[in-house]
This record gives sequence, C-alpha cells and structure tokens, in this order.
Amino acid sequence: MSNLDYAAKQLNKIRNRIAEAAKNAARSESEVSLIGASKMQSENLLSAFIAAGLTDLGENYLQEALDKQNQLNDNSVAWHFIGHIQSNKTKLIANHFSWVHGVDRFKIANRLAGHNQQATALKVLLQVNIDDEDSKSGIAPSAAAELCDRMAQLENLSLEGLMIIPKPQTDTQKQAKSFATARQLRDSINQRYGLSMRHLSMGMSSDLEAAIAEGSTMVRIGTDLFGARPSK
Ligand SMILES: *Cc1c(COP(=O)(O)O)cnc(C)c1O
Repeated sequence: MSNLDYAAKQLNKIRNRIAEAAKNAARSESEVSLIGASKMQSENLLSAFIAAGLTDLGENYLQEALDKQNQLNDNSVAWHFIGHIQSNKTKLIANHFSWVHGVDRFKIANRLAGHNQQATALKVLLQVNIDDEDSKSGIAPSAAAELCDRMAQLENLSLEGLMIIPKPQTDTQKQAKSFATARQLRDSINQRYGLSMRHLSMGMSSDLEAAIAEGSTMVRIGTDLFGARPSK
C-alpha cells in the first residue's frame, strides 16, 4: 500500500471513530478537531497524511518540530505544541506554533505572550494535572482558576481552554471521570471569572471515545492514526 493510501485509510478510520463518539454523545462531529500527535513520525509519512486531508499536527519536541516545519514547508498545516515547555524555548514556541497546549505556570504564559510576534494572539491551553499525579506536569486543579484569570489578562495571548492527560485507565467509567472533572473545571472557571474558554484538549488513541462523550473539542491521536511510533 502506498503511503497516501495508508494515510487515507487511517484518517478515515479515526474520523469514523470521532463521528461515532460524537453521535453517541448527541454532539456534532464538527465540534471535535483531530490533531495528529506526530512525534517521531517521519516527514514522508506526515506529508502523505497532509495530502490525505489532515490539517493539524501536534509535536512534543521543539527541534524535531522545527525540522519538520522546514521540510514540509506547508502553510496550510496548523501546528500545535503539545509537549512540556521549558522557559528557554518560549521564544521559538511563541513564533512557530498556532496553538500551545502545555502551559502550566504564569511565567511560561507571560514569556510566550511577550515573545509572540505573530499577527494574531497565540492560542494557549492551560495544562491541568487532573488526577494529581506526581509524574505529570500541569497545574493542580485547585490552583487552575486563579491562573486562568491571570493568563486571560495577558496581551498577545488568547486563553482557549484546558488540556489534560489523565492517568491511563482501561475502565471506561474511570476514564470518563477525569474528563468530566476537566469539563466541570472549565465551566466553573468560565463562570467565576467571566471567561469564555471553549476548548478541552483531551482524548488520545485509547480513550478518545470517553473524552468526546465528556465534551472534548480536540483529540490528540498518535498511534491509532499514524501507526506505532518508530523508536529513536
Ligand atoms: C504522544 C501524545 C499523544 C498521542 O498518544 P497516542 O496514545 O499515541 O495516541 C497525545 N498527547 C500527547 C501530549 C502526547 O505526547
């Protein structure tokens, strides 16, 4: 099978899963955008997916992402930074991505805003450590509201919502609980501070259905879209 045929088939498979999950939740599939989580995947493969209609790519590592942006040289792709953000990388991240999902402290948000030279505000999501895991980045749920309020006041930055990576769970009900908590948190912050955050970046290969059922607006899919990640 050619890369293009493979990409078309895989894209179709994931879009069908998204459509089915949306339908089961009485939502429109157009409310959920698909971000290809493309870390470690080759430019060749990604260009086939772009040709097949994938419009959004999410990358975790800055240098790898910049190399891919150069090689693919395609202005139609919307790039999302979905990895952990180090403060010395904020200048490049602010200027080479449309969306930044992993903001987890004010210092990072402030630096991104200050460095943004793009024509439009940088769209960011606050990463919340929804299951309070020691191993994960993200702000504690209890501290998220105040941080959103501060971030929303930054110029050149547009706070669009929350991003979560829940604890891996095979039980669908347990998956649903973390996602529902994220949705409730977004809604309560919006209400408390008069904000209008629309987005919830949540759902990966193994839990996109549960995430969409609980209101996800952006799923980040790697393995089930591109195939297994090649090792380094
Ligand atoms: C790798 C990655 C994904 C995709 O994970 P899969 O299980 O391969 O779908 C999603 N989000 C983030 C932040 C990732 O690093």
